[in-house]
Amino acid sequence: MKHNFGAGPGILPHEVLKQAAAAVVDFNGTGLSLLEISHRSPEFEAVLDEAVKLVKELFEVPEGYSVLFLQGGASTQFALAPYNLLPEGGKAAYLETGVWANKALKEAKFFGDVEVVATSKESNFTYIPTNYKIPEDAAYFHITSNNTIYGTQMHHFPKSPIPVVCDMSSDIFSRKVNVADFGLIYAGAQKNMGPAGVTLVIIKDDLLGKTGRKIPAMFNYQVQIEGGSMYNTPPCFAIYVSMLTLNWLKSKGGVAEIEKENDAKAKVLYQEIDRNPLFKAVAATEDRSHMNVCFVSENPEHEKPFLKLCDEKGIVGLKGHRSVGGFRASIYNALPITSVYVLIEAMQEFAEKNK
Ligand SMILES: *Cc1c(COP(=O)(O)O)cnc(C)c1O
Repeated sequence: MKHNFGAGPGILPHEVLKQAAAAVVDFNGTGLSLLEISHRSPEFEAVLDEAVKLVKELFEVPEGYSVLFLQGGASTQFALAPYNLLPEGGKAAYLETGVWANKALKEAKFFGDVEVVATSKESNFTYIPTNYKIPEDAAYFHITSNNTIYGTQMHHFPKSPIPVVCDMSSDIFSRKVNVADFGLIYAGAQKNMGPAGVTLVIIKDDLLGKTGRKIPAMFNYQVQIEGGSMYNTPPCFAIYVSMLTLNWLKSKGGVAEIEKENDAKAKVLYQEIDRNPLFKAVAATEDRSHMNVCFVSENPEHEKPFLKLCDEKGIVGLKGHRSVGGFRASIYNALPITSVYVLIEAMQEFAEKNK
């Protein structure tokens, strides 16, 4: 077995993979593959209902919110959020904390004015800006809870006078969140929730229908809510595997329990990075991500041999994003702490060899 530190599509629980593999051949004893049954069959409707129920239960989604499973990835939501929430001639506020946030705000410009309230671009996004004012006349305030590429994470969410829209692609279900503090949450599944091909959307119903704009059906949250995520054929397999992963999370004690594990994994890994003379963390200490741990070697010549040592130990997916370099250990929900210990051992062994 490999130790999969890849940033995304990320690691899934092994038992989920086994269940998914079995369902591809024979889904729940139906004699049919999950891939060849109607999305309107009672069998699949039960899968979708269960997935929605698990999201509501695990995230304690309050009344007045709808849960959707859509296609097009988080990148489609960059456009659908303003399409559905930004009125004609209106303004939206964005916090620019990385490339994904930047892509999101660029899409919003197709629909109205965009005010970037703060950015950490000048430092290549090594921290989350704090001193900014959220404009009260904007339709919403968009944030990215975890910046996958730079290894920064918002450990506190701002008090906002306007609805908060949050891209939670890379830390959804990794920690407790008060959904009522958000107007819209979206997340591509493939980092921490399931396989690629489905995107979770949690939307506060009463924010919809206020733009004065006509929206094509597939891009219209209201239409998707009315269709129960089945306006057209949904990504059945991706929804099924997400449902299995959410069920696995529930069986582990839910979000509060996994948050403890994630904190423990992050703690031991950052401790080693801070202790080890060969490595150094990239992100500002107070903004360090508990999902994507970015670090570099003090001596750039150590990069390749360290990756080679990792490869020998079955540690994969550790190479940092090209815009940051170095290493990125993604320690998503499904990655066991034992894999983190294997990485720590490799770092210690490498430091010993390169004294
Ligand atoms: C990966 C990622 C995206 C892009 O997701 P797609 O589903 O590929 O569109 C957006 N935002 C964040 C924070 C990400 O980590």
